[in-house]
Amino acid sequence: MDVVHTIWDEFLKIAKEEVGIRVVETWFKAVSFAQWDAEKKIIYLQAPNQFVRDWIQKNYHALLSTHLGRLLHVENPSVSFLNAVQERADLVVAPTQEMRMVPAQVAVQKRRAGLVRISSPKKQSTINKSYIFENFVVGPSNSLAYAAAHAITEKPGRLYNPLFMYGGSGLGKTHLLHAIGNGIQDQNKGATVLYQTADRFVTEFISSIRFDKVERFQEKYKNVDVLLIDDVQFISHKEGTQEAFFHIFNVLYDAHKQIVFSSDTVPQDMQGIAERLRSRLAWGLVADIYMPDIETKIAILKRKAASHTVVLADDIAHFIASRAIANIRELEGALIRVMAFASLTKQELSLELAQRVLQRADAPERPAIDLERVVSLVHKHYGYDFKQLQSKGRDKDLVFVRQLAMFLMKRLTNKSLRDIGVFFGGRDHSTVLHAIEKIEQILKKQTDLQVRIKKIEDELSR
Ligand code: ADP
Ligand code: MG
Repeated sequence: MDVVHTIWDEFLKIAKEEVGIRVVETWFKAVSFAQWDAEKKIIYLQAPNQFVRDWIQKNYHALLSTHLGRLLHVENPSVSFLNAVQERADLVVAPTQEMRMVPAQVAVQKRRAGLVRISSPKKQSTINKSYIFENFVVGPSNSLAYAAAHAITEKPGRLYNPLFMYGGSGLGKTHLLHAIGNGIQDQNKGATVLYQTADRFVTEFISSIRFDKVERFQEKYKNVDVLLIDDVQFISHKEGTQEAFFHIFNVLYDAHKQIVFSSDTVPQDMQGIAERLRSRLAWGLVADIYMPDIETKIAILKRKAASHTVVLADDIAHFIASRAIANIRELEGALIRVMAFASLTKQELSLELAQRVLQRADAPERPAIDLERVVSLVHKHYGYDFKQLQSKGRDKDLVFVRQLAMFLMKRLTNKSLRDIGVFFGGRDHSTVLHAIEKIEQILKKQTDLQVRIKKIEDELSR
């Protein structure tokens, strides 16, 4: 398997959670993980140009070092960029001229050489080809959603319309939506299938208003055979968008076009949704997906490993599946860390190795703790209230307590760096990361702080 790619993909997922999809799309998607020098602990990335490189170094170096470090199982590796033209010869195996160039350069060169004709841009499908029914593992937790999804590919628009699938994050909703799209396109090459996330839908709608292109926007959606809307809960509290969507829904529904939604809750529990739209969301079949049982988790792990041509032994699969894990995305993440570590360090995949790799991530299961509770305990222990913590005050003690609060939040809640930054009055994710690193440094030296933190943690989990 291509380890660096897998690690990079894993990093992108984490970055998405930590700093948001926009940052990932804008900056990290343009970058690739070129080499890992395990001896010198240097990660080599490749960026398309100087601008991207500088921006990433300036704003995201810490994020890269922390998370790639965790994935590679080393502490604070340094991150460096390969120069697009002068790569380190010893790191690149027989680079051809073409390999050294970024894609745009290659295209230009080929065009100059008359090798490629410039064709009109083909419309790109919105369907992800790798999410198909064949690689979706079915168990009691998802069998209803799977069966319904599969059935509608046979008779789009005729069986369950709309199909509404709901469940927690990372349980396979997006996978099933794309599988439906792929399934329908397999049966009918000419079918127009459109996949869109609700938040993109909202953005697109708003910009269509700004640029006076509402009609074109409406046309795009009304002219499809199958509409797949992911995470429809993001349409909450957006009255204008709901209005527009309501009309699109009616047109498609009346024409027997298939509509499929995914959401994190049932329609009844969605907040800020106009009644008439809510009732339509539940018109067809509402199918839930929940956390799989251990057998299904094991099957998913084995399937996933097999797709990397790795045969996963029972004891390892069982060990990974029985850890306290929130969803299938995390399950996959754990497997990838283990496989990547084995491959990078050229060791056999064994139970002992899996335990070693995952041990660190294996914090004991905790009840959900919210940010406010951390604030109130920090107040109790250190006397600063939330107003002070949120303020711009730079008093030394205050700064320390603020950093400590951020550290505790990241460690004890499931909030992202970005969430925590926002909570502290709109601070940047890098401020939060910096705070965490500061406290980690202090913790290495000060045992009394370790004791104090342990005490706060105990109080929190009570
Ligand atoms: P959601 O949209 O519900 O948050 P995703 O569809 O993105 O979740 O799934 C997260 C990851 O888990 C994806 O990589 C997906 O392929 C994988 N996954 C989820 N459910 C299954 C399953 N039943 N079988 C195989 N892979 C799965
Ligand atoms: Mg999803």
